[in-house]
Amino acid sequence: MREEPPAAAVETDGRELAVAHGAGPLLVLGTAGTGKTELLARRLARLADDGTGPERTLAIGSTRATARRLRERAEALLRGPFEELWIGSWDTIGERLLREHAEAAGLDPFFDVLGPAERLAMLLDRLEQLPLRRHEIRGNPAALLARLLARIDALKAERVGPTRLEQRAREAERRAGDSAETEAARRELEFAELYTAHDRILAGAGSLDRGDVFLALDCLFAERPDVRRQIAERFEYLMVDELEEATPAQLAILEALAEDNTNHLYTFEGEPRGGPAGGRGRPFSDPPSTHSPADAWFQQVHPEGGVISLEHRFRDPAVRFWKCANERAQSQAVAREVEHLLAGGADPAQICVLVAEPAHQGGAVAAAMEERGIPFHLSGPAALFQRPEVRDAIAWLRALADPDDSPAVARALTRPPIELRPGDLARLTTIARRRKQDMVAACEAALDSPQFQPEARERIQAFLKLYNAAAAAMEERRADVFVRRLIERVGLRRQRLFAAQPEVAERLLGLSRLAELATAWARREPHGSTRGFVAYLSAVAEAGVEPAGNEEPPSPGSVQGLAMDAVKGIGFDHVFVLGLEGDADWARIGWPARTGLVLSRVERGEDGEARPSRFYEEALAAAAGAEEEHGEELFGPAEGLHATYRTLREQVLEASWRAGRELSEPRLDTAIDVNRAIARYLELLKLAALAQRPGDEPTAEAIAAVNGLLRQVATPEQQAELDASSLDSYLLDAEDEQGRRRELIAAREEPSLEAFLPRRGDGMLSLSASDLSLYLTCPLKYKFARVFGIPQEPTINQRFGILIHNVLERFHKEPPASDEDGLRQLTHLFETGWRRTGFGATDDELQFRDRAREALRLYWERERVAEGEPVWLERKFDFKVGEHHVRGRVDRVDRLPDGDYELIDYKTGERRTEEQLENDLQLALYRLAAREAWEVEAAFGSYYYVLDADKVAAPTRPDDAERVERTVLQVGEGVLSQDFEPRPSPSVCGWCDYRLICPAAET
Ligand code: SF4
Repeated sequence: MREEPPAAAVETDGRELAVAHGAGPLLVLGTAGTGKTELLARRLARLADDGTGPERTLAIGSTRATARRLRERAEALLRGPFEELWIGSWDTIGERLLREHAEAAGLDPFFDVLGPAERLAMLLDRLEQLPLRRHEIRGNPAALLARLLARIDALKAERVGPTRLEQRAREAERRAGDSAETEAARRELEFAELYTAHDRILAGAGSLDRGDVFLALDCLFAERPDVRRQIAERFEYLMVDELEEATPAQLAILEALAEDNTNHLYTFEGEPRGGPAGGRGRPFSDPPSTHSPADAWFQQVHPEGGVISLEHRFRDPAVRFWKCANERAQSQAVAREVEHLLAGGADPAQICVLVAEPAHQGGAVAAAMEERGIPFHLSGPAALFQRPEVRDAIAWLRALADPDDSPAVARALTRPPIELRPGDLARLTTIARRRKQDMVAACEAALDSPQFQPEARERIQAFLKLYNAAAAAMEERRADVFVRRLIERVGLRRQRLFAAQPEVAERLLGLSRLAELATAWARREPHGSTRGFVAYLSAVAEAGVEPAGNEEPPSPGSVQGLAMDAVKGIGFDHVFVLGLEGDADWARIGWPARTGLVLSRVERGEDGEARPSRFYEEALAAAAGAEEEHGEELFGPAEGLHATYRTLREQVLEASWRAGRELSEPRLDTAIDVNRAIARYLELLKLAALAQRPGDEPTAEAIAAVNGLLRQVATPEQQAELDASSLDSYLLDAEDEQGRRRELIAAREEPSLEAFLPRRGDGMLSLSASDLSLYLTCPLKYKFARVFGIPQEPTINQRFGILIHNVLERFHKEPPASDEDGLRQLTHLFETGWRRTGFGATDDELQFRDRAREALRLYWERERVAEGEPVWLERKFDFKVGEHHVRGRVDRVDRLPDGDYELIDYKTGERRTEEQLENDLQLALYRLAAREAWEVEAAFGSYYYVLDADKVAAPTRPDDAERVERTVLQVGEGVLSQDFEPRPSPSVCGWCDYRLICPAAET
């Protein structure tokens, strides 16, 4: 990171006093951007100048990034030689101290400190033994356990152990006033049990988690005052940056050390005493944070301590406010603005995009950056698993561990080095579905199929060769050895070696990080199989948790994407803060920008209208600023010759690499690929010539002139490629029609999927209600599911949903003879179905069963007094809208006492309110279908949320039919024109089965 301006030059406050401070406690207060970290580095250097060896000062930063910056500055300022520096984050310093005194603490000196990923893996391995009956698993134990682990971490930071938690829960159970409170208390008791089990498992493995480190130090200092004194005396001075970030467990360590040595200096982010000191102060702060627990703590532990306020803030960026139509509009606006900054000479590494959770909101930003060819590095716990090479390696590992894992096999087939074309992938999935085979077996079958061209067969053969060799080695080798071999063998490392991109080094580091994870895992599980490692890797990647020691690799030359937590204490020239409609604690980010700060919020989130956060509103009011509005660009980035040049440059590199590989291992289509690569290069030359042409010659004339010159050097085959290219027509149209570049280039790269679009016998497109919603949610997901038809194993949620639908259909088809029989019959149908559908007795399954039993009881209670009478069950429809067929089936149609009809759709997922159903499409479509296909006018449509035993009517509107028809035509047009642009969004991608194969889920 770049250095702050030299502090002394503009000093008007107590900074120099703090730098020169000697013995005794001191608190340095200052808002963000007042140079507190720099002050600590200067003090450390001053102490060294005055004769205190740098190794005798212990300096702690709140995060790895701030500690790294403090160390860099101290190293730069220290004049004399030194033995070592004790500068680090809380985690590294805590672990170092504990390891040095492990024996005194009663610990094995070789203890491991495990990160959330390792702990998650341990718990998943013992899932059957964990008390989880009262915590909803819903088919995703990894996600539930990741949340519970985060809570355990928070409790340890607060110094709350399982015993205390259990006492509190018992007390709550005793005081519970109703069944809901009792249930909540019991769930808490179960959580306390899980907490105990977690600690027991960890201790059994001779390991600690990060929270344990401070609890263990706390105990050590209490039980061994001699050790405490030794440490306190060893470090003559102790400095802590950002005291407000210290947890109660960490404060306890400071308090203990202060008993023997009070030479402590803390910086604290808050208003100077007496409130904001003129200027702009801190326009978007909560009430002065000097009243925070950490400040109160200082006054209590060091009542005699001095306080110095820093009043000059070095960062004073221009603040702008954005109101964006939606998340995509917001990401596009950032990418557009960043492109302008880069064009103006800004350093990419000095631009930062901040989001609340990179794993969720980072994908949309990464996709928008990608559209403009801007290198973007997203950091965060799950960032490693979002990198393409790492995902390629995971795809191979998953495919090898389970050939039924279709998305993994599909990714391995379509990515380098195999690069099966999309049409051939669609043919393969058809074979797999028809023959009910896994995708690998379908590959074997494809070798004899006349549907595949020789070139496609070669690619499939290459895949099978690699796959079979790796599958044999997988059983024999240790996980770490196997992963390294696989990376080499599949060529994941080589593919990018020469691409002239700043992210290359970072990607190679990503692969070595993956190999390191395998090594660490193999060390922990010496008898574990590679399959065990794959299960671990898949779980941590899915849950988005951070593996231990996951130090972010450097990413020079890339725009930085950071979590809000990670920015504190570091600075960038330009910062974009996105998603300020959430209720995250945004005030924590302080002043991360030097030159420009954009605060952005969206108007419409996934759940409808979104309100700006309080932080945003206060900042807007304080700055008396106006909001800039940004809408969504339907066709991607605005074009320009430079942007086109950048995109094409990527393709040239890729095409050259591909053609070069084929030259060393010629295939039947090698000559075609080589000529194509050369043609792409000639087009790149053309763009460079056009971009640099002097004067204002019209584009058409300039293109004609360059084409004439290129014709003199191109061979007939290359000229044919150039003639087939749509680049010229795009360049001519570009000014009028934004976005055609991507379409045309993509169309040229990707053969038509026309033959695989879901059509009926009459050639018309066939769309169901779920197809419409799938496409509207994410066109790319529609392509994976309906065009490629990648086979999927049904999840436990889906299997359960099917069972409930079947039970209710059977129940209403054969109504009970009497009221008494009703519930018995319903229960009997359910229990029989449950056994036949192959459900087992895991906690997850038993939770579903318990909820279903209760829900069916309530269903029956409701049914016996219901006024409507079911007249049709699972009734199908098929009608036309324009040139498309719309098909589907309605779960149940009731005739009401007044003769009206009500269409009912059963749901076993999360309940939605009437307001959330405001723009519902499915039931509006069903009503139109009833009219068109059955000639039935249905006045009502409702969702029956079976597990909640609640029926919610979807609002009807006079323009419903028109709205449905418009949507069908819009989706139909999108599918026919093969517009399968991804629409990444946190809530949808989080549950998407195609995440592994989806490029939009990468950074
Ligand atoms: S991961 Fe997200 S963007 Fe990709 S296909 Fe799934 S829903 Fe679409």
